[in-house]
Amino acid sequence: MSETAVLCSYCPHKRCYAGDLSQAPDFCPTLKKADVVRSSKKMLKEPKTQKMAQDVARTWKAYGKLTRVEETVLYAKLQGHKKLGIAFCVGLSAEAELLTNVFINEGFDVVSACCMCGSLTSEDVNLPEEDKVVSNARQPMCNPIGQALVLDSENCDLNIVLGLCVGDDTLFIRHSKAPVTILAVKDRVLSHHPLLALYEAKEGKRDINVSRPQIAAS
Ligand code: SF4
Repeated sequence: MSETAVLCSYCPHKRCYAGDLSQAPDFCPTLKKADVVRSSKKMLKEPKTQKMAQDVARTWKAYGKLTRVEETVLYAKLQGHKKLGIAFCVGLSAEAELLTNVFINEGFDVVSACCMCGSLTSEDVNLPEEDKVVSNARQPMCNPIGQALVLDSENCDLNIVLGLCVGDDTLFIRHSKAPVTILAVKDRVLSHHPLLALYEAKEGKRDINVSRPQIAAS
């Protein structure tokens, strides 16, 4: 781990929030990567991108009053989206049904694709027998690329990820042509609240090392 790596997570003050870099650490990307930051600002001038960013800010006007579901609806409306895609995990089928109801009730057209679409198995990804959960049994495989292609084939304006497995969400995001937002992520142990692992570890209730390594600058 390089001591010069950009690590905003170890910045003690985070005064960039207030436009004050006087106490910024050496690794501060606002200072160290000024050219990159300039590029990002330039990219935000592109009209469609700028409108996306403005609409994010508009969802903040009801700060702390809207749930993520409601914020997603608001953002989609601000963006003028008509058709929403839902890429959901088969394990969250009940939630997918409720979310579909919400979006339709809010006036959107909805397309939803389950991770099991295509009925893939471990054979479709040449998974070695020893890596299967249960050897010599049919192991279903998620099809996140298929989900992306299905939703894109239906010309969805915005795709919403609902509980895809870690890595499957990566494949989905990489292959979706439509913009993507995450409503929920999969955590089989923590009822899909992955941050609980960090909170519990900090309180010594979970065996995950959250102590700060020595290399960390501050
Ligand atoms: S390192 Fe710089 S950009 Fe990162 S949080 Fe601190 S002040 Fe902000």
